[in-house]
Amino acid sequence: MNHMVTGAYVGGFAAPLFDKRGLMIHKRRLRQSRLQVLVLEAGQDQTEDPRVQTPALWPGLVVTDSDWEFMTAPQVALNGKQIPLLQGRLLGGSSAINGMAFIANSKDKLKELGLEYVDESVNGKNGPIQASFPDAVDDPIANAWVESLRGLGYPMLTDPFSGHACGGYTNATTIDPVKKTRSFSANAYYLPAKEHDNLHVVTEAVIQKVLLEAPPNGDVTATGVRYMQDNSSFTVIARREVILCAGTFNSPKTLELPGIVSRTILERFEERHRRRTPYVLNGPRLLVVLPTR
Ligand SMILES: Cc1cc2nc3c(=O)[nH]c(=O)nc-3n(C[C@H](O)[C@H](O)[C@H](O)COP(=O)(O)OP(=O)(O)OC[C@H]3O[C@@H](n4cnc5c(N)ncnc54)[C@H](O)[C@@H]3O)c2cc1C
Repeated sequence: MNHMVTGAYVGGFAAPLFDKRGLMIHKRRLRQSRLQVLVLEAGQDQTEDPRVQTPALWPGLVVTDSDWEFMTAPQVALNGKQIPLLQGRLLGGSSAINGMAFIANSKDKLKELGLEYVDESVNGKNGPIQASFPDAVDDPIANAWVESLRGLGYPMLTDPFSGHACGGYTNATTIDPVKKTRSFSANAYYLPAKEHDNLHVVTEAVIQKVLLEAPPNGDVTATGVRYMQDNSSFTVIARREVILCAGTFNSPKTLELPGIVSRTILERFEERHRRRTPYVLNGPRLLVVLPTR
């Protein structure tokens, strides 16, 4: 079965219209737009699930159907033990099962990744995600952690959001201060935009491949995606763009299936890839590898 949409978004998480991060839908722009937007999510819509809504219940979703249940390779240093690599598989992605800590990154680490610390264009005080300090801000146990770290020589001397923070402090959480429920991409971005008839969210739809068009001497274009739902295969043709936001492990995997490989992997397996896929196109942080003739 084929669908035609203006944009397909793979991965129902955390978007011009979307800000290129899955479910972060700008509902005003969606209302004004004539674009037809399709969001495809492998997991279910558990927005009303108490385990998602109730902050203290988040560990109950780990290693269930709401998690991709990825495991590391056996770790030599751990006597062959495998460690679960948690990733949300539900509408809202990992933001629906995470620990809700509202903390800031280190400037140096982001620089290493080639990213700006703060993108001023998305900075503001009125975003849909709600944050609050836990009631336990004066809790003696929480304070004991702060004091212990101070005693070990790690006092928090700077603003935790300065990008140079080191030390213990009680952080805010992405918990709605009034309802005391989890604030995450599905209830903060999707629910308010749900009624728009140009937004279509399909759950339990597993993307198998981004479809590419590669003219012999032209740029490679993503033309759509193929996904599975209820043992049936569907092809979506996107007239404008395909935005992939399937998480740390599944985004690269989904790109690798049609032959888009990261530079690091390509270098490691250079000979093998060259033999199979001699056309290599350069992107800013990706190499796009295509079949020969
Ligand atoms: C258990 C846990 C605790 C965490 N605790 C914190 C915390 O306290 N504070 C904090 O800041 N961060 C925390 N994080 C990290 C944070 O939640 C993630 O960094 C963030 O959610 C990543 O967003 P993302 O959009 O990149 O990916 P994700 O949120 O993982 O979203 C990817 C989405 O794509 C979908 N998808 C993947 N493959 C396919 C496919 N083939 N077809 C269709 N859909 C697909 C997934 O099902 C998922 O919904 C935690 C994460 C986990 C898992």
